[in-house]
Amino acid sequence: MRGFTTSIVHSDRLDPIEHGSLHKPIHATVAYGYDDVRDLADVFQGKSSGYSYARQVNPTVSALEAKMSRMERGIATVCFSTGMAAIGTMLFALLREGDHFVSSSFLFGNTNSLFLSFAAHGVDVTFVDAARTSAVEDALRLNTKLVFVETIANPRTQVSDLDGIGAVCRERGLVYVVDNTMTSPYLFQPVTVGASLIVNSLTKYIGGHGNALGGAITETGLHDWTAFANIYDAYKKGDARKWAITQMRKKGLRDFGATLGAEAAHHLSLGAETLALRQERQCANAQALVDLLAAHPKVRRVYYPGLADHPQHAKTMALFRHPGALFSFELVDGIDAFAFLNRLQVVIKSSNLGDNRTLAIPVAETIYHEMGPQRRASMGIADSLIRISTGIEDVEDLLGDFEQALA
Ligand SMILES: *Cc1c(COP(=O)(O)O)cnc(C)c1O
Repeated sequence: MRGFTTSIVHSDRLDPIEHGSLHKPIHATVAYGYDDVRDLADVFQGKSSGYSYARQVNPTVSALEAKMSRMERGIATVCFSTGMAAIGTMLFALLREGDHFVSSSFLFGNTNSLFLSFAAHGVDVTFVDAARTSAVEDALRLNTKLVFVETIANPRTQVSDLDGIGAVCRERGLVYVVDNTMTSPYLFQPVTVGASLIVNSLTKYIGGHGNALGGAITETGLHDWTAFANIYDAYKKGDARKWAITQMRKKGLRDFGATLGAEAAHHLSLGAETLALRQERQCANAQALVDLLAAHPKVRRVYYPGLADHPQHAKTMALFRHPGALFSFELVDGIDAFAFLNRLQVVIKSSNLGDNRTLAIPVAETIYHEMGPQRRASMGIADSLIRISTGIEDVEDLLGDFEQALA
């Protein structure tokens, strides 16, 4: 087994590519022709792994899926058009009316919105403080099928009790889904805490350049799907560890069509090659800015799992390579947050995260606006909270920019 970056950079060459091309080509095709129709039938019946129709499979996307499986040390991956499409299609393929699942309440805002939509369609969800395994245990019911957590929550940086929840899920035979977007497989591999399925929004750190959307679900092979009630007979064939991921591809992508395009897959694959390099720099930049802000008289509080007074600091240092490249903070009373943000010259006011550029956003007025003050309060989001996602700029330029904007 090669190192993390070596295995990604050389992944495409493991299957011979025509003319010795160093990159998997962008296969701009919708369908695939066969000389012998028997071969086409075998593909449809799952007897061979060829290509049939591009809503479910495309060679450029398959190459990215192989990279994701390598990075996450999983056994199979399915890619989707966005991270939201990955989460939505996964749950739609696995859950049915009358089922229940438990979710962290410290959740990416759009995932929160999606889960409320599932609740409106008869799949019940209970939101709990996932920093405490006992809160997850207390929420379990007879019809609970699955537990969903994120690694580091955005924007307040709460860290789930990832290993404790993993142990409970294993004991109770529950599907354990970990959204690894905020850490990425470079900082953390959820297979090490017993995750069944891993979510990644490829749009963020893995793509990294803010130029393509994508999402992925990776199967770790740890869950016993033979005991899971919602697998259709058609997918109960061959290796049981792949039943659920096959159902997500065959039924999920067929039903919803939230397919990743070949060109986006190419962009995301290029991004994946430098994930480790970029994240080293992004995390170092975050730590330097956090150190500046935490000691600054005009800053009331900084939320970052790398700070010794963060409630899950010890867990963070035990589980993750670095504490991430995202933090949030509140200015002291009397300072206009919008005026402060408008004074920033290097940092861009923008909603994305995981980009090469450092991005800042006032949370309550933008991404969490529609959620309303009550749910915001329950998620610990103050009206004055500012979120920062650090990029790869030279650290002196970032420190100088914050210093002048605070002065
Ligand atoms: C951004 C994000 C998503 C959704 O990804 P998109 O590609 O934007 O749809 C899901 N989970 C987390 C933790 C995210 O940060």
